[in-house]
Amino acid sequence: MFEIKNLHAGIDGKEVIKGLNLTVNPGEVHAIMGPNGSGKSTFSKVVAGHADYEVSEGQVLLDIHFKMKDILLLAPDERARNGVFLAFQYPTEVPGVNNLEFLRASFNATMREQGIQEMDATSFEAFVLKKIEFLGMKPDFLARQVNVDFSGGEKKRNEVLQMAVLSPRLCILDEIDSGLDVDSLKAVADGVNRLRSKENAFILITHYQRLLDYIVPDKVHIFNDGRIIKSGGKELAKEVETLGYDHLIH
Ligand code: ADP
Ligand code: MG
Repeated sequence: MFEIKNLHAGIDGKEVIKGLNLTVNPGEVHAIMGPNGSGKSTFSKVVAGHADYEVSEGQVLLDIHFKMKDILLLAPDERARNGVFLAFQYPTEVPGVNNLEFLRASFNATMREQGIQEMDATSFEAFVLKKIEFLGMKPDFLARQVNVDFSGGEKKRNEVLQMAVLSPRLCILDEIDSGLDVDSLKAVADGVNRLRSKENAFILITHYQRLLDYIVPDKVHIFNDGRIIKSGGKELAKEVETLGYDHLIH
């Protein structure tokens, strides 16, 4: 359902992604690990369509209505409405925007794109409250401004709530575990595990094996210098934990 072919991309004239290939099937969870500065966040932003990044070569194909389409040709909001979701490493605060309204506007934009009927405020609130309960979150998240004065853990849980509401087909989670204490980490991992299905796929970017104890990946890729240098199963993450990246790189 998702395939990256020979992707080259960069920022400010500097090539960061240097020939990346990746294939993700429905229902799979892939983990991407790799040293700082290897291009992991750049990869996620290029897929989401961040305007500062330039793609010089390659394709990013996503199954949209049973056809593989190059999403590099779509604007970021079109990619989002067609099922691409990026959970930020550092979620943005949006003062003045109510979280429930934000979720409803995003949800309805996605429904419009897919030709499904939009929800009015009352039915949407009931729908979100069910999701909140499903994820074990507190309803007071909804009345607050998007991420404003949220703790680190709450911000990451709010990203999981957005995924639960929007049901994206491809979720990229950039260091969802960074800055989380163990209880928040478990809550976020539990949320993601509940959202896993045969129709969607997850790409988890992480530094630490710890997250992968809670969200068990089907495949693990080691990223270095803008490309995948090794792929394996979940045991590859353990190898990195014990031996570090150096023995894979040199
Ligand atoms: P990772 O997420 O793996 O730690 P990043 O994707 O954040 O790595 O960064 C990859 C490389 O891109 C780094 O060498 C970083 O310095 C460089 N980079 C990121 N943003 C910019 C920028 N705005 N201008 C120039 N180089 C950048
Ligand atoms: Mg990063």
